[in-house]
Amino acid sequence: MPLRSIRQLKSLKNKRVLVRVDFNVPIKKGKVTEDSRLKASLPTIEFLMNKGAQVILVTHVGRPEGKKDPALSVKPIAKRLKELLGIKELRIIELDKAKKLEIGNWKLNNGEVMMLENIRFYPGEEKNDAQFSKELASIADLYVLDGFAVAHRASASVVGVTKYLPSYAGLLLEQEINGLEKVMKKPRAPFVLVLGGAKMETKVPIMKHLLPRVDHVLIGGGIVNTYLKAAGYKVGDSLADSGREKEALVLCKKKKVVLPHDVIVGKRDGSGARHVMIEKYPHQICKKGEEILDIGPATIRLYASFIRKAATLLWNGAMGYFEQKPFDIGTLSIARLIASRSNGKAYGVIGGGETLQAMELTRMSEYVDLVSTGGGAMLEYLGGKKLPGVVALTKNKKK
Ligand code: ADP
Ligand code: MG
Repeated sequence: MPLRSIRQLKSLKNKRVLVRVDFNVPIKKGKVTEDSRLKASLPTIEFLMNKGAQVILVTHVGRPEGKKDPALSVKPIAKRLKELLGIKELRIIELDKAKKLEIGNWKLNNGEVMMLENIRFYPGEEKNDAQFSKELASIADLYVLDGFAVAHRASASVVGVTKYLPSYAGLLLEQEINGLEKVMKKPRAPFVLVLGGAKMETKVPIMKHLLPRVDHVLIGGGIVNTYLKAAGYKVGDSLADSGREKEALVLCKKKKVVLPHDVIVGKRDGSGARHVMIEKYPHQICKKGEEILDIGPATIRLYASFIRKAATLLWNGAMGYFEQKPFDIGTLSIARLIASRSNGKAYGVIGGGETLQAMELTRMSEYVDLVSTGGGAMLEYLGGKKLPGVVALTKNKKK
């Protein structure tokens, strides 16, 4: 069933709309240092304001674990958001106070926005407590989920409230789900998946779930190391998941999986970088103290030949330890190739915290068709899991 979108709503005058966003952004010395998540939800907030709604934003910040912690207040976020929205005032209210004030007496004009204090200050949030969900729902007439990045969390402000309020998807959530569905359900061939990164527990389900849908999988990062280790190669101190060697071996031997021809080994501080062609086993790739830290030039060339022909491209996970030069070359090359092919020739989707960072370094994010803000939620979605926040918005409920 399709998502119920806020675009279906006509006038929202005199309606209180509770909007769950993910504004869990990095804050240093009382200042938001990275505001892309705030910007990503602006279209939804402005849409609701223009419809005359009384908007109440709700987010979590950090992990206060059910206790009030002034260091994790939403104050810096409200300050930055006020600037982005170009408004004079953005009040913050604590939920318990909002309840006492009752909806009618609580001054919030049509087209105005206000923010609830960090919702994780309340233990009921992460427990998805029914009573707490009800209380939260009682301050509004409608509910909107916009933060795709929290859609995998079965918490009160994501799932619980939808039991008590007519619930809709915000523009950001809708855009991200539609983009990902396009890739999952109707991908144009050839569909090339580029998969790297560190955390094998998130990558293995993606590979399993997507292998039947894609034409080629180009692998990098920890998956390569784990595979090589499983195949018996000496990989020294390389980042590998010893608990998943067998799985990696089975998956990487599939025909669709393209394996690297060469790697760059060295030390994490950037010293001793050396190019190694992967020869037939037995072959010692790493010497003592060395790690595999990037894919090599022959592999970049090989992967480029696939990316250049792709009609659908999906990338998650760095090809190497790109935070340290010279091990950034593989990841940044792949990022540029993907961005160049996207926006026209192929439908390009990227996601993941470090993946987005790497794409930002190339300054080519704008060429990618969908830069997902989803992080962990996106990884779960691609791994075939149903996201509780999204499921709640597809249930047919009229209140
Ligand atoms: P994302 O956040 O994009 O989903 P992950 O969190 O799975 O990606 O992994 C990204 C991290 O993996 C990067 O910080 C990168 O440094 C690291 N990484 C990738 N390949 C290697 C490698 N060969 N050795 C060490 N770290 C690596
Ligand atoms: Mg990460």
